[in-house]
Amino acid sequence: MIAATPEKSRLSTLPPRNVNGGPAGNGSIEDHASRSRLKAAKLWVLERAERAGLIRVARDSSWRQKRLLILGYHGISLTDEHEWCPELYIRPETLRARFQHMRDNGYQVLPLREAVERLRAGTLPPRSVALTFDDGTRDFLVAGVPLLREFGFPATVYVTTYYSAKEVPVFRMACRYLLWVGRGTQICGEGLTADCQPIELHTPEQRDAAVDAIEARRGEIAGGVDDELATLRLLASRVGVDFDRFLAERRQQIMSPAEGRSLPRDLVDVQLHTHRHKVPFRKASFDREIEDNRRVLAAFRPDEQLDAFCYPNGLTDVRFLPWLKEHSIRTGVTCEAGLATATTDPLLLPRLVDSSTLSRLEFEAWLSGVGSLLPMRRGRRPKSIEE
Ligand SMILES: [Zn+2]
Repeated sequence: MIAATPEKSRLSTLPPRNVNGGPAGNGSIEDHASRSRLKAAKLWVLERAERAGLIRVARDSSWRQKRLLILGYHGISLTDEHEWCPELYIRPETLRARFQHMRDNGYQVLPLREAVERLRAGTLPPRSVALTFDDGTRDFLVAGVPLLREFGFPATVYVTTYYSAKEVPVFRMACRYLLWVGRGTQICGEGLTADCQPIELHTPEQRDAAVDAIEARRGEIAGGVDDELATLRLLASRVGVDFDRFLAERRQQIMSPAEGRSLPRDLVDVQLHTHRHKVPFRKASFDREIEDNRRVLAAFRPDEQLDAFCYPNGLTDVRFLPWLKEHSIRTGVTCEAGLATATTDPLLLPRLVDSSTLSRLEFEAWLSGVGSLLPMRRGRRPKSIEE
């Protein structure tokens, strides 16, 4: 195994991994305190580096020019999603400020395909950046594309397609969100869990357990999408959410094929992220994930090359590399934080996953390259919404 890279996805059903490669933190108070101390120490160093002009020096260096920063985004908040899951969501105004900073400071945002080719050829322009968005949720279309248009920045969006044609919320993701809306309460479990006992929603752990219990009941009855909708409707009513409006606003949904077709071709490259948001270790299942994903995406954007891949849940493994090559996939992005160089395996490209948890200074330090030089704590990982 190469790396169990950070789980950064809202859609995962896989067990926890960490941000920088090691096993997930234990979530204890000590763990949290240790994270806070490292973050405070990093900010202390970065503030002094900024004052001394070192961030600017790194930004303009030949060292940085030989490197590519790939930024990875997940959700863009349409309402309060960044409060629900700050590790995965960013507010539109924060994303705009990031884009503005890149423009004001001469960062060159290149399409990923061109950026990787020029990285390997040694012809990158100074301060190169590539933008990527994971999953293909509708907030990308609603909140991301207008910003890309305004700034003229190209981006790659990796779309997982199982829920795309169904035009219903991604079940586990919507379930987690609704349980968060009901936080601090106790709701009736009848019709939601097998034991029908009251469900406590006071702590994150209780809400995680509630998702598992709701999933377990659904597993027993194997009711398909209709049951998913009925379950979400019942849950929404228990936590006081207007589910008809939730559906009408297409919250927690993947872009439909028609929406995929509407994405501006001059700015947005639609690429592979598996059909069911998973990378199976059985070759036949792995192949099926790529083939099904490719078939649906080909309808999104006929005649376009589908040769770029994003590992769902950031999970990478040596076994996947020849399989990806068999499918004529040329690039693969991970959630391993770092800058890519000419010698980086193009199927294992590092990315900085940007979200509400990253401060302005940390973001700017990463753009300059300085961020990659600071120690990154092993063993920390924000919990995936889908776990
Ligand atoms: Zn994903």
